[in-house]
Amino acid sequence: MNPLPVIVIGAGHAGVECAFALRQAGVPQDILLIGDEPHLPYERPPLSKAMLSDALDIERVQLKPMAAFDKARITLRRGERVARLDTASRTVHLAGGEALHYSDCILATGGRARLLPGMDAMQVHAIRTLDDALRLKPELVPGQRLVVIGAGYLGLEIASTAAKLGLHVTVLENGRLMGGKVSPYTEARFAALHRDAGVALFTGVAVARCEGGPGDWRITLADGAEHEADLLLVSIGAVPNTELAEAAGIRCHDGIEVDALCQTSASGLFAIGDCANAHSHHGQRRCRIESVQNALFQARTVAAQLAGKPVAAVRPPTFWSEQCGKRLQMAGLVLLDAPIDDHVTHTDRGWVVERFQQGALRAVEAVDSPVDFVQKTRMIAAPISMETPACTTLSTEPQHA
Ligand SMILES: Cc1cc2nc3c(=O)[nH]c(=O)nc-3n(C[C@H](O)[C@H](O)[C@H](O)COP(=O)(O)OP(=O)(O)OC[C@H]3O[C@@H](n4cnc5c(N)ncnc54)[C@H](O)[C@@H]3O)c2cc1C
Repeated sequence: MNPLPVIVIGAGHAGVECAFALRQAGVPQDILLIGDEPHLPYERPPLSKAMLSDALDIERVQLKPMAAFDKARITLRRGERVARLDTASRTVHLAGGEALHYSDCILATGGRARLLPGMDAMQVHAIRTLDDALRLKPELVPGQRLVVIGAGYLGLEIASTAAKLGLHVTVLENGRLMGGKVSPYTEARFAALHRDAGVALFTGVAVARCEGGPGDWRITLADGAEHEADLLLVSIGAVPNTELAEAAGIRCHDGIEVDALCQTSASGLFAIGDCANAHSHHGQRRCRIESVQNALFQARTVAAQLAGKPVAAVRPPTFWSEQCGKRLQMAGLVLLDAPIDDHVTHTDRGWVVERFQQGALRAVEAVDSPVDFVQKTRMIAAPISMETPACTTLSTEPQHA
């Protein structure tokens, strides 16, 4: 047995799943999970959903109780930051000065909220961490004016929750709703739902500057229009945490580049979850997929590999969102630059959009139609088998999902 531990850096969805999957797959070594947040590892999806409106306490969003880590013999070191990685000597250096040697290391460092240039020092809200949600929640008071910059999934989820709580909500988006990742039909339906719920939704507008501070924000658009707000939330996506990998000389481009088995350009070093940029068999391009399902899948892929077990077949990536009392589920990825033929079907409570390209079903969206979602997702065009990884050679063309 290799006496050195397997070290997982980052204790989010991907890191925690990987640590447990390693143990379940029978990896005999010590497993060390290092996370820089002070909390027990927690789920992020509720942070922009139930956590902001319900009395969801911190325990309810925890991924596992402490006893589960002990039982699985996983050493969780929380509140500790990895400052440096030396892949030649296989050493992890903690910010506190400690050096730890590893047999294999998994980077699961996730991402951080992207802000507008010059905004770091300002007291805007963003939503990425439990602390972000705990800071925002008490400020969602009826009658307050909230401006949300960015109509991605998270921005819209928060806008919808805030409107329901009685705030006056304005959303400013310079592109399309949900990053243009949903069909025009679903986009239009959700735009109408948000507007019906009282959200002032502006698309195709560019924010030129934000001035003021909490309780008195003034947001000026490129066309000169102004919006005033008590609260300002910036929700314009995430930046992958690649600094450790980059400083260690690992190939990165919009994330840490990995092959189909999540291996980076250094041996014994893997990257999974939001920080990893992999070839998507379904999307037929390199991209980062920011979803719980992807984080779990990549975590299990690495664990199986290190335990010498077969790796599971690739399934279509899935994602969900909750807005305006509706549950949107998505599966698959459309190809870039190929015409899309959308087929819309109305169901008892919502609708389903099947998205065809080049004669094959590429993606499915379902709103309040979970059974249809499962059935249609099974029909998404099968990808290339995992046994013949399509990207043992790393491409240099990163593209977003
Ligand atoms: C508000 C919100 C809502 C979401 N809703 C959905 C949803 O509805 N459905 C869905 O599928 N997905 C959703 N997502 C996306 C999903 O949560 C992410 O894809 C998933 O959490 C990624 O997990 P991860 O482990 O890769 O990264 P993360 O969860 O970001 O975890 C990475 C961890 O690594 C730590 N770390 C970074 N650098 C270091 C270091 N040097 N040393 C030690 N620790 C470090 C970070 O602090 C963090 O704790 C949501 C995300 C957010 C933020």
